[in-house]
Amino acid sequence: MKSTMMPVQLSINHLLDRAGRYFPRHEIVSRLPDKSLERSTYGDLHRRARQVAQALRNKAGIGRGEPVATLMWNHAAHLECYFGIPAAGAVLHTLNLRLSPEDIAYIVDDAGDRALIVDDMLLPLWERVKPLLRIVPRTIVHAFTGVPVPEEYENYEDFIAGDASSYMYPEQDENEALGMCYTSGTTGRPKGVVYSHRSMMLHALTECAPDVIGLASRDRILVVVPMFHANAWAIPFAAIMVGASQIFPGPHLGGEDLLDLMESERITLALGVPTIWLMILQSLESPTRKRSLVADMRMLVGGAAVPVSLIAAFEKHGMHIVQGWGMTEMSPLGTVSALRPKHASLSTEEQYAIRALQGAAPPLVEMRLVTDDGATQPWDGVSAGEIQARGPWITGSYHNAPQDSEKFASDGWLRTGDVGVLDADGYLRIVDRSKDLIKSGGEWISSVDLENAVMGHPDVTEAAVVAVPHPKWGERPLVVIVPKSGRTVTEEQLRVFLAPYFAKWQIPDDFAFVDAIPRTSTGKFLKTALRETFKDYVSRTPS
Ligand code: AMP
Repeated sequence: MKSTMMPVQLSINHLLDRAGRYFPRHEIVSRLPDKSLERSTYGDLHRRARQVAQALRNKAGIGRGEPVATLMWNHAAHLECYFGIPAAGAVLHTLNLRLSPEDIAYIVDDAGDRALIVDDMLLPLWERVKPLLRIVPRTIVHAFTGVPVPEEYENYEDFIAGDASSYMYPEQDENEALGMCYTSGTTGRPKGVVYSHRSMMLHALTECAPDVIGLASRDRILVVVPMFHANAWAIPFAAIMVGASQIFPGPHLGGEDLLDLMESERITLALGVPTIWLMILQSLESPTRKRSLVADMRMLVGGAAVPVSLIAAFEKHGMHIVQGWGMTEMSPLGTVSALRPKHASLSTEEQYAIRALQGAAPPLVEMRLVTDDGATQPWDGVSAGEIQARGPWITGSYHNAPQDSEKFASDGWLRTGDVGVLDADGYLRIVDRSKDLIKSGGEWISSVDLENAVMGHPDVTEAAVVAVPHPKWGERPLVVIVPKSGRTVTEEQLRVFLAPYFAKWQIPDDFAFVDAIPRTSTGKFLKTALRETFKDYVSRTPS
């Protein structure tokens, strides 16, 4: 029997229209570079995002399915692009401003970006990217600082000017591309993940559910997680669905600045990586001034493991952390550590321990644990395996890349590269990471890229890089080096040598010189042995 339901296609454009119709006065607040606040509404967003769409189609000739990049901080204009680019039928491609110019150039070329919308304060970075590009996309500059846009560039406000009230969205299938993000590869270059209207709608609906993140129109959400990293955990799409207000910190990510915003904007929910929350905690606990925050404020913290101590410390201030785990390939939501009714009778400490787990998968996400030899592990809280996942918002391939058995199982499940255990209730605990990457302050450093670069130094025979814990940044890279016999090389020389190839924050502070690096029987570096040797190593990166 065929269903009698209408075959209406899921589309993010519906959310934009809905916000214009139902929540025209709900607020969007952006902190500008001079720290003043700019206030706008979903009514403004509805109008201006359609202007963006119309300009992209009519002035820039952007066609359906063509990528348009953004290089921007978190603010209202970026939100306009989040909706305006897809409303043109084009693909929102957020560029990560923390990457090196070389990586950004590779990503722009690989995506084939047709246009770029860039904050004026990021033009110096873009100027370093441009000479490395095969084709420079049409560049439109958003005057975020308020200073006039340099003559040689097109001004965003001029570009989007014009009445778009009769703009018609292109008819699109729900499986057409809506956006794309690049993710750091363990080896080789970053890889593109492409989201569809359908995947983003289902993901947004699920995020709104009470036991997932639980968004409501009364929420005022502080979006600290970057809009250039995994779509700010796709919160802009979920928030608009319910009409929750969105508050954007712009480039001001210090603890005091964020606390000021939480206080003045009456924030009810904030999202960010643990490094940000550690800074906020420091400010919160400095005796300068008592803060008056909204009672029972919630925080979604993820991107790296959340220690019990962080959960407990914020509880003292009446602020409740919920942990999330996921990845760019998963849109990014994979699990959320919400408590269940059976946990109500547990002691406070026992509840904290559950909240420090990565949590359970929401509806539509399936998970399994698989060992190196392909066995599926039981959900008993002790048997570990690589986490593999499947679901409508989980990528089944990478853009422009051949299907890779390192990243996908033979039956198509995503291999996350995280190693975990699942308990009988389905709560995940991450115990290790099999991918050779270091996560520092929420952003990646490739160990393999560092190793290859260090081994390019004329006085180095071999080098292996492992992650060491860091109290603020989560992890930092430790470079273990075997110098060439009879030669010496200093840490400072190595840092200078690495500088042209990496972003500043990716350059290691920690080096160890050894006679030999342990290897596996097949000749690969035995990183488990190195991690064991350096398990008590204290990183020298300042906090
Ligand atoms: P990204 O694709 O950059 O968002 O990074 C995703 C990766 O970050 C995951 O595969 C994990 O290795 C790590 N990650 C994200 N959230 C958590 C978490 N709550 N606990 C531990 N690791 C996490």
